[in-house]
Amino acid sequence: MTTSYEQLAAMNKAHLWHPFTQMKDYNASDPLIIERGEGIMLYDMQGRAYYDGFSSVWLNVHGHNVPELNQAIAEQLGRVAHSTLLGMANVPAVQLAEKLVRIAPEGLTKVFFSDAGATGVEIAIKMAFQYWRNRGIPGKSSFITMNQAYHGDTIGAVSIGAIPLYHDIFRPMLFPAHVLPYPNAYRHEGGSAGAMEETLASLRALLESRADEVAALIVEPIVQGASGIIVMPPGCLREMAGLCREYGVLLIADEVATGFGRTGAMFACDLEDVSPDLMVVGKGLTGGYLPVAATLATEEVYDAFYADYAEQKTFFHGHSYTGNPLGCAVALASLKLMEERDIVQGVNKKAAFAARRLSALADWPHVGDIRQQGLMIGIELVREKAAREPYDWAERVGVRVCQRARELGMLTRPLGNVVVFIPPLASTEAEQEAMIHILATAIRDVMEFGWGREG
Ligand code: PLP
Repeated sequence: MTTSYEQLAAMNKAHLWHPFTQMKDYNASDPLIIERGEGIMLYDMQGRAYYDGFSSVWLNVHGHNVPELNQAIAEQLGRVAHSTLLGMANVPAVQLAEKLVRIAPEGLTKVFFSDAGATGVEIAIKMAFQYWRNRGIPGKSSFITMNQAYHGDTIGAVSIGAIPLYHDIFRPMLFPAHVLPYPNAYRHEGGSAGAMEETLASLRALLESRADEVAALIVEPIVQGASGIIVMPPGCLREMAGLCREYGVLLIADEVATGFGRTGAMFACDLEDVSPDLMVVGKGLTGGYLPVAATLATEEVYDAFYADYAEQKTFFHGHSYTGNPLGCAVALASLKLMEERDIVQGVNKKAAFAARRLSALADWPHVGDIRQQGLMIGIELVREKAAREPYDWAERVGVRVCQRARELGMLTRPLGNVVVFIPPLASTEAEQEAMIHILATAIRDVMEFGWGREG
């Protein structure tokens, strides 16, 4: 017996609590319930088609229902669905670890699996903390993060998060972190150069006075995602990495959003030849199919844990589904497809196409800034363009644009007043054209015609 839309909608309202969602708003309208996907389209229960304009929260690579990926899972399913990595291995987890090391920035040679970006980040910060303890330098125990950073929603990741709306309420239960200014060129009176100078000077000053108590700096390399797709000035990441090295502080690159081709390189760190001490990947690792994340470490970090058991240097951390064979098998298949289809090079061509199309919006009165790195794009809407005056959050302009886009056949989610366009890496130019047309229409309808305004 199949369940009707009406039945599911009622069950949804009765029982499902959605992430990052005010349920009072959600329950006020009929829920969107996705039934299937094909290519870069998602279809709801009523058969309506939507472009996946945000890659199902920034993770889809090859589209949905991809035969090669489906097959990889089916084949692995015929062998074993799950077996633990605690003290033993499984075939695809070993193969994936080896593959990740081959494509990662130089020096990252060890892979620790988990199942979400946030858990990958927890692992990185715990590893960094314990690394210094294992080396007999316990004083190096604090962390540096960047203003407006987002690293996931577990308590450690929230401690090094710096988005007031998401994080402030939890402050009393978090460990404190040093917060550096993030170089946001659009919001800095000195522009790109001034923003970068401020960040680097702050980092140097902090390290000068506090390096002996800092374990690591964590950064979203090149693009700070959840704060509004804010692209770093060129060279900034490389300089930051140099300062960390100079002052003996570990560098953790959180590539959860930027990894696997999204920024036009396999990893954002590659854009500036940066080799971090620890790197976290997730999201696109499985092509957007299954929850697998990984924390990569250098030999030096790993060696600090490698000792006789009695020395108690073991990394006591793990998750039930760590290194899940189905997830690792589909990750391997996705990475193979990426190579066969030259996805990363393709991103650069497609990014140039998107930039040309989006440039038509740059002169629009309420389009403040169009930020892009590869196929990570954010359009910041402002009330007053010359003064860069933001809309009040209560006007919900980002939400309204995304609601209108959905009506017009494309799914995406805003970040405050920033409209996000993060299409699957496999989307064609024709598909991008159609999506950008929807996006532009939605922005015009809300900005010019007041679509969705209350009252
Ligand atoms: N780190 C970054 C940079 C992210 O953008 C995200 C999610 O958007 C995370 C970590 C958390 O990943 P997950 O949602 O898989 O826990």
